Amino acid sequence: MRYQYWNERMETLPREQLFTHQVELLKWAVENALRTPFYKERLKKAGVNTPDDIKSLDDIRRIPFTTKYDLRDGFPYGFVSVPKDDIARLHASSGTTGAPTTIYYTKDDLTRWANFMARSIYATGCNKSDVFQNMITYGLFTGGLGFHAGAEEVGMLVIPSGAGNTARQFRLMRDFGTTVLHATPSFLLHVESKMREEGFSLNELRLRKAFAGAEPYSEDTRRRIEELLHIDVYNSYGLSEMNGPGVAFECQCKNGLHLWEDGYFGEIINLDTLEPAPDGEVGELVITCLCREASPILRYRTRDLSAFYPEPCACGRTHRRLHRITGRTDDMLIINGVNLFPSQIEEVIMSMKEVGNNYLIVVEKEGVLDRLTVKTEVGPDVFWDDARLLNALKEKIRKTLQASISINPRVELHENGSLPVSEGKAKRVIDSRPKDV
Ligand code: ADP
Ligand code: ZN
Repeated sequence: MRYQYWNERMETLPREQLFTHQVELLKWAVENALRTPFYKERLKKAGVNTPDDIKSLDDIRRIPFTTKYDLRDGFPYGFVSVPKDDIARLHASSGTTGAPTTIYYTKDDLTRWANFMARSIYATGCNKSDVFQNMITYGLFTGGLGFHAGAEEVGMLVIPSGAGNTARQFRLMRDFGTTVLHATPSFLLHVESKMREEGFSLNELRLRKAFAGAEPYSEDTRRRIEELLHIDVYNSYGLSEMNGPGVAFECQCKNGLHLWEDGYFGEIINLDTLEPAPDGEVGELVITCLCREASPILRYRTRDLSAFYPEPCACGRTHRRLHRITGRTDDMLIINGVNLFPSQIEEVIMSMKEVGNNYLIVVEKEGVLDRLTVKTEVGPDVFWDDARLLNALKEKIRKTLQASISINPRVELHENGSLPVSEGKAKRVIDSRPKDV
């Protein structure tokens, strides 16, 4: 395969040179940080008084971690390093796990972000002849405008369709010959179900690729979307605290996400010791933003679980790859003492052909015990009237799940297309147990 690069020199920079570049960027980030009320105090306490206290990448470990709680405490301007007149835009996180946090950008910050986004899009083999339909929420959420700016930078024809309204999405795809989609993986699955329901044929469309991100999904889900829509799907990772999308992205090898290390310094830490985890070991991803002036954020604990792939990638890029995010540290469910990540359930059910595109995980208290129920839609080819077949399928799902997660779940089957769908990030878990127990 011939690979294309947006910025070949930077994307293939030998690692020694990349490290030297990162030290310079880290100093710049510390210099910005020292201008914010929050870090002025935090860094001084840690003995980092000037950017020159950073002499090598190892010195990053002198900087304390920043958490979501710190960002909330610093609301609204505790993390701003520039005069307010120089701020060109703000975004806020979607608040999946609590109160949102706000991030600010100068004009230069927006340009740098758009460039990382363009680089990401280009790495998947897209170019200016593509028609890009951005089926994700615009507004305070970074996914909409972030991708929009990057795709424009690449020179694609951008259709800012936003999320939702599948009927209009199909019309746009057909009328303008959309070749590339961006959405959450759950919305892509929903779009496919709806297309089938409404009798839309893929032959009327010119789709060839999609970017899927903003929420965790398994390799099986990726494969399912690819097979159903006859496209290549690329994993896209980002978070508002690190600008938004364009932090790490899959290249055409589709085997791990390149973390753009000239914009983001990544560490994987062991959850118990908070010390660096060896390559290949799963831990919490900690990122320092090396490309934003207005809101510097250093050593941010993302709570996302990943691991580094140390081997070089076949595409020639030297920036390390991250394993797909398997979940957040705070996603973990404890069910009668057994630890369970929702992604473990997804992995099992999405590999089963008879299971439809949507599912829900419900955890309740039943007496003193926790009760796990997995609600799944059946696939479009499963006869909803055949009670014997449905019972057998239910039993098959239950047994396969039990073997894999060591918990005996209750399984409920639902008709294809009948479980609730969210246009943005999917809400897959309903945990109704009292919080204080
Ligand atoms: P919130 O934390 O409120 O959801 P964001 O909108 O900034 O705020 O979402 C960022 C988070 O979304 C990430 O920290 C991560 O948990 C999740 N996420 C984004 N992209 C992916 C992806 N490709 N795979 C798994 N999770 C992702
Ligand atoms: Zn690669």
